[in-house]
Amino acid sequence: MASLRPMPITLRSYLSGRWQAGSGKAIPLFNPATEEVAAEASTEKLDLQAAVTFAREKGGPALRALSFAQRGEILKALAKRINDSREELIGLGQVNAGNTRSDAKFDIDGASATLMFYAELGAKLGEQRTLLDGEGAPIGRSARLYGQHVLVPRQGVAIHINAFNFPAWGTAEKLAVSLLCGVPAISKPATATAWMAHRIAEVWVESGALPEGAFSMLCGSVGGLLSHLRGQDVVAFTGSGETAQRLRRDETLCAYNIPLNVEADSLNAAVLGPDAQTGSDTLNLFLTDVAKEMIQKTGQKCTAIRRIFAPLERLDEVREMLLERLADVRVGNPTEEKTTMGPLATADQLRDVRGGIDKLAAKSELALGGSKPVQALGAAEGKGYFVSPTLLVQKQPQASDLANQLEVFGPVATLMPYRDSAQAVALIAAGGGGLVSSVYSDDRSFVRDAIQGIAPFHGRLTVAGEKLAGQTVPPGTVLPQLLHGGPGRAGGGQELGGMRGMQLYLQRVALQGERALIEQLFGSPRA
Ligand code: NAP
Repeated sequence: MASLRPMPITLRSYLSGRWQAGSGKAIPLFNPATEEVAAEASTEKLDLQAAVTFAREKGGPALRALSFAQRGEILKALAKRINDSREELIGLGQVNAGNTRSDAKFDIDGASATLMFYAELGAKLGEQRTLLDGEGAPIGRSARLYGQHVLVPRQGVAIHINAFNFPAWGTAEKLAVSLLCGVPAISKPATATAWMAHRIAEVWVESGALPEGAFSMLCGSVGGLLSHLRGQDVVAFTGSGETAQRLRRDETLCAYNIPLNVEADSLNAAVLGPDAQTGSDTLNLFLTDVAKEMIQKTGQKCTAIRRIFAPLERLDEVREMLLERLADVRVGNPTEEKTTMGPLATADQLRDVRGGIDKLAAKSELALGGSKPVQALGAAEGKGYFVSPTLLVQKQPQASDLANQLEVFGPVATLMPYRDSAQAVALIAAGGGGLVSSVYSDDRSFVRDAIQGIAPFHGRLTVAGEKLAGQTVPPGTVLPQLLHGGPGRAGGGQELGGMRGMQLYLQRVALQGERALIEQLFGSPRA
């Protein structure tokens, strides 16, 4: 009897201006709530050299011929296409990424908002095709001899490698910056959750908004893609520290000094100041943010809060209040209306998260959750990559604790006490460099000490207190205006941040010569 289950869809790649299917054994993509195969993808035997050449030779010149404003118009059209397909994309997030509706919207709306931000930046930059970097300076005896730094688009292709947790946002945020700079991109979503990125690529291609060669997508394993890169190309990577290390040693990237931006792991912290009283807006904000960041996208966010710091004398109170906030989390199939937290994205994730919880729990107290199987809403018994929200408490924290070293990429956080700001700073810094941490306090002296102490270890910090109650953006929300990235463990990368993120795709040239000529060619900072 024929199976009633629809065949999994095959995700093709969009390379050299056409959709192409790989051959050989395809990699399955699962529905993490049912463990059924949802789609499959293969990149075997695809001509990646041709794809790279096509992007460089067709997409590059086409984009460079456009002004920033015209490139911005393309980004606007891409954002619109995502918005038009929002409902369909939410459905894909549910069946392929384990996203609740709200998690899927976070990813999809983040994608379109970032595209729109860069579209508007393009409009502001107007008819130029290149940028000036700072003021010029006279460099000789007369005012005529002049030096000016200018930023010009690299003439290669950008390879965008993304993590599994943000198939929409990850794809769009890298593409927005690269296209605005005039650099074509080959986007490679993580295979496990590539369906949503693949559908986005389809609607973009159908829209006709993209110049030929400006955008390509490789769905499935990266294969030998990187071996075809050369000195004008660039790689932007988001994923685990382990894969990042491999890329840093990649023979081709090393041989041609190809710029590599890395966005990796992070042990983001939230600190409650000593002044936040029970019932205060500041304490409420802290509890709301911590609970949200722990469970949104089932904790699979690079910016999720992993370490929670409370004043020593308030530890038990904070623990009880957090347990109260987490008590009504309903783990289940995202297609079940009552579900508030979906499954982890993959079987590997489930294994790693359970293993990570056990490692952390060996040295701390388990206050909630744990690594045991969960019977989830709307899921068949024993099926699905579900895990409980898990809170651990480490009562006598040390810098060398595993909680300051191991990123468990799931709904898992460790609560720790601190005696004074110096200890809080030392423990947070022990995380080895992070994407974002947050301080909740109205005590200006505590805030000053905390921020000055932890700033060198972070790419972004949020300070929240009474005066901002009701107006803050949770720390886990990445904003296009502000830098995303962080030092050390976080990879040392810098994405977004308005024009700052554009530097990866532009070559800075120090131009010396006659001032009038330089200004004629590239404009003047005074104009
Ligand atoms: P991952 O296993 O490192 O994979 C990331 C991407 O790299 C995927 O597209 C993967 O492709 C690709 N990849 C794997 N091996 C490669 C190789 N040898 N050469 C080139 N590309 C390769 O990470 P993940 O499991 O998807 O993501 C989870 C991790 O990402 C977490 O540690 C999280 O902290 C981090 N993350 C960081 C940020 C940030 O912005 N800082 C954001 C999100 C996630 P395949 O899927 O085909 O293997």
